[in-house]
Amino acid sequence: PIDREVLTWQGFGDGMRELAVTIRDSGWMPDLVVAVARGGLLPAGALSYALGVKACGTMNVEFYTDIAETLPEPVLIPPLMDVSALDGKRVLVVDDVADSGKTLALVMQMIRDQGIPSGDPASSTMVRVAEARSCCIYMKSRSVITPDYVLKHTDKWINFPWSTLPPVTSDCEQP
Ligand code: 5GP
Repeated sequence: PIDREVLTWQGFGDGMRELAVTIRDSGWMPDLVVAVARGGLLPAGALSYALGVKACGTMNVEFYTDIAETLPEPVLIPPLMDVSALDGKRVLVVDDVADSGKTLALVMQMIRDQGIPSGDPASSTMVRVAEARSCCIYMKSRSVITPDYVLKHTDKWINFPWSTLPPVTSDCEQP
């Protein structure tokens, strides 16, 4: 049997408070929290509340098409949010885990170097943020990026509370 790192719902809740304290104690506060969907959605939401930062949004990178299969060019799907007010703001980018770290490294590079697509299909305007910092629940030792804020380190496969059970389908029994 594979030895796994199990994050419980309680561990997640407590951990996000702990991470918020670490961020506050670093003397830096974001104006906006951005989740890397889907893995970053729950931690980003929890951090947004724990930090008292109401502005939040998501962005999605299509990079992995299959295990070890990547697209030639990573595709950034614009955040599902109005980013026009973000110019010159501090952004906290949140993901579940930096494993190879390639997804998070890519998102950070895109935000820092190219800016965030405005989300308006009629415009190619890029929003430039003042500073972007990254945050993960877990970091693995092989990661190409060291996030600015990390709760825990592991090299095991992680079971997150939101993806441990199979999806609810029409033919499966649920409690
Ligand atoms: P990357 O290799 O680019 O750092 O990770 C991409 C994504 O793969 C992560 O955001 C996460 O959703 C998923 N992933 C990577 N390692 C694990 C793991 O140990 N457990 C789970 N459940 N997902 C993982």
